[in-house]
Amino acid sequence: MRLATLADRAVLLTEDGAVDIADASSGRFGPDPMDVLTDWTEFQAWAESAELPAASPYRTADLDAPVPRPRQVFAVALNYRPHATEAGHVPPDVPLLFTKFPSCIVGPTAEVELPEGNVDWELEMVAVIGAPCHRVSASEGWATVAGLTVGQDLSERVLQLTGKPPQFSLGKSYPGFGPTGPALVTLDELPDRDNIAIECLLNGESVQAARTSEMIFSVPELVEFISGVCPLHPGDLIFTGTLAGVGNRRVPQRFLSHGDVLVSRIDGLGEMRQTFR
Ligand code: ZN
Repeated sequence: MRLATLADRAVLLTEDGAVDIADASSGRFGPDPMDVLTDWTEFQAWAESAELPAASPYRTADLDAPVPRPRQVFAVALNYRPHATEAGHVPPDVPLLFTKFPSCIVGPTAEVELPEGNVDWELEMVAVIGAPCHRVSASEGWATVAGLTVGQDLSERVLQLTGKPPQFSLGKSYPGFGPTGPALVTLDELPDRDNIAIECLLNGESVQAARTSEMIFSVPELVEFISGVCPLHPGDLIFTGTLAGVGNRRVPQRFLSHGDVLVSRIDGLGEMRQTFR
């Protein structure tokens, strides 16, 4: 299923439109998308057999982040070898973690205000936690994941790389720097959850393209590593790392500017579209 947020309410997206989850379940689940995730196991069981009412048409521009208020947002640096190489590093032996502070999370068509500095794109697949968990092994990793979505780890490189050693998190947390969506897609919708095509286009030109099978640390391995320290909550997000082709490693460098259109696309998960001012 495809879970999304429309006017602050959790909806299921179908081929015909959107179905309000609180209405369809007579108030049992939702309307707050965070409540649906808190009740994830029960909600899934209900959704599998529920007779849904007719869907209503909606505008893609009205979709908000499928997980609007995650308690924790984890992000992984250098998780694709070609990106580690372009950044001038050897591929890491253990996952490299930072956070995007949750106030940066916005929806799939959000217009993003550019702060001073050099704002760069980083397309990433994002895993959404469904089951509360702590210290799970990689073999149980996928079972803790409610689904996947598309994310942009937008990054202001000057602030990100200031300081010795640099502290990544603030430079990646300006308002609007965490677009996600258009929907949380459950794993049963995907032909191969470990091998998905992923591509980012700037003004129509492909700037990043890879497959998620090229990740150094897989989603289950990231869940094992992170949950080994932090208890994970329903709705927590894991940005799983970007691929090669970011702007600050290009020659010449290239950064986002007023009027640019950034399209972020992952097979089976859908597409986001950001504009900048
Ligand atoms: Zn990133």
